[in-house]
Amino acid sequence: MNILIVGNGGREHALSWKLSKSPKVNKVFVAPGNGGTFMEGGKIVNVTVPEVVPMEGDDETSRFSELVKFAIESKVDLVIPGPELPLVQGISDAFKKVGISCFGPSQKAAMIEGSKAYSKEFMKRNGIPTAEYEVFSDYEKAKNYIESRTFEKIVVKASGLAGGKGVVIANSKQEALQAAKEILVDRVFASGGSNTTAGEEDENGKVVIEEFLEGEELSILAISDGYSVVTFPAAQDHKQIYEGDLGPNTGGMGTYSPATISGGAAGNGAGMGQQERELMQAIETKVVRATIDGMRKEGTPFVGCLFTGLMITKTRATNDGEYIYKPMVLEYNCRFGDPETQAVMMLIPDNFAELCFAAANGCLDSVKYECETDQVGAGGSGKYSACVILASEGYPQKYQVNKEITFKFDQQNNSDDVKVFHSGTKMVQQTSVAGEDGSEGKKSNDYKLVTSGGRVLAVTGVSTTSLQDALDKVYSRIEQIEFEGKYCRRDIGHRQLSKLKA
Ligand code: ATP
Repeated sequence: MNILIVGNGGREHALSWKLSKSPKVNKVFVAPGNGGTFMEGGKIVNVTVPEVVPMEGDDETSRFSELVKFAIESKVDLVIPGPELPLVQGISDAFKKVGISCFGPSQKAAMIEGSKAYSKEFMKRNGIPTAEYEVFSDYEKAKNYIESRTFEKIVVKASGLAGGKGVVIANSKQEALQAAKEILVDRVFASGGSNTTAGEEDENGKVVIEEFLEGEELSILAISDGYSVVTFPAAQDHKQIYEGDLGPNTGGMGTYSPATISGGAAGNGAGMGQQERELMQAIETKVVRATIDGMRKEGTPFVGCLFTGLMITKTRATNDGEYIYKPMVLEYNCRFGDPETQAVMMLIPDNFAELCFAAANGCLDSVKYECETDQVGAGGSGKYSACVILASEGYPQKYQVNKEITFKFDQQNNSDDVKVFHSGTKMVQQTSVAGEDGSEGKKSNDYKLVTSGGRVLAVTGVSTTSLQDALDKVYSRIEQIEFEGKYCRRDIGHRQLSKLKA
């Protein structure tokens, strides 16, 4: 089987690495890929398809024509789009039209991420637990609503894609009004067509105003063919840039998996506390399956990876310290998460490619999923993984790129216990020094690896003994990686570790 992955981040590197492990996979093309997928070699090949970024055009066929042409010529059997934008723009439909399987939702089903207004209304119709909310496209109405509320905090969200910047947790009415005004009047997130198809209204002309939920966040990746579901072990992200969860939000500074809320024996179903098991089962049935069933019943079956961002709320049940945990959906994404994917790929079985192909072809239940770290079912020996992001100094604000990256270990002959996935890196051709006579420097055949983004590397480790052991492996490998301005958080997994100590 030949697979084409679309995207250039750490998520796409992790996916290509995992997919290449199946003996049934012949080639994994990554368009455009990054320095990490370039260095993988073997089955993994970077391809430059001119139109991947930006994807312009009036309909999905013209937007993705170059990619489709490449896939036909290269005998691609399965396409896996990484980021949300091509999915919201209809990449899945474009491949379906030419008979190539795509592991990703149709443009209509991708609305579950592309429109928060749609996803909230979908949850309400299907009884899926989420925060109370209202949707507005008129500022005066939003203003009246905010002013009528008695609250300490309220959440204001741009409805459309906003690159993770469209959510404001307002601590006062003033802040909430300001956020609503920026979205509805100043139109700071107006997508200029990238989030909409011709003739449709801009999703970012709408605002979702919702109740603030208190609790701990959990990310759930599940794959589906529209009917059956395979839910992967839960992960927890660390969104803020500084240790102790301080500072501005980022794309994610690190993850670990499996993540548990009550601190039960993570990753070992047999040892997992009753409460944790009940929570995981509630997530599986009342959230993930309810979503997949609801999408199918509403005529927009969801095929691909459904990423559910949850807030697990906690209420005291009895006076002797018992709590009730309830999963509440914060958001859906219609694709794999980054950096959750990096941690999860270390835990799941090597028949991942077969699972994706079967899901894209409506027969997910024909492939057996046997994960050693099965959080939902009972049993399993248990594995733990952790991913720490190495970022460029200054990220998520201004940062520098083109800094050379060096490794004090052999990346090619590295054990699979620690894997360095690349996010913002690229290979550049070395140029010799300009001649004394004023001649230009010549490009040599040697390449060097340089930084090309805010999040640079995702160092990911796995352990069969503990989360701490996985983290130790990751942090010791980080000491062997150098680039100017290297920054990482040193406290990834802190919540889980402190629960285990308690
Ligand atoms: P992402 O960066 O994950 O793509 P997004 O812009 O799509 O984010 P959400 O996931 O809906 O938006 O919200 C971003 C973050 O804001 C959440 O991870 C959570 O920390 C916080 N948040 C969102 N909604 C709520 C809520 N109702 N109560 C408390 N916190 C919330």
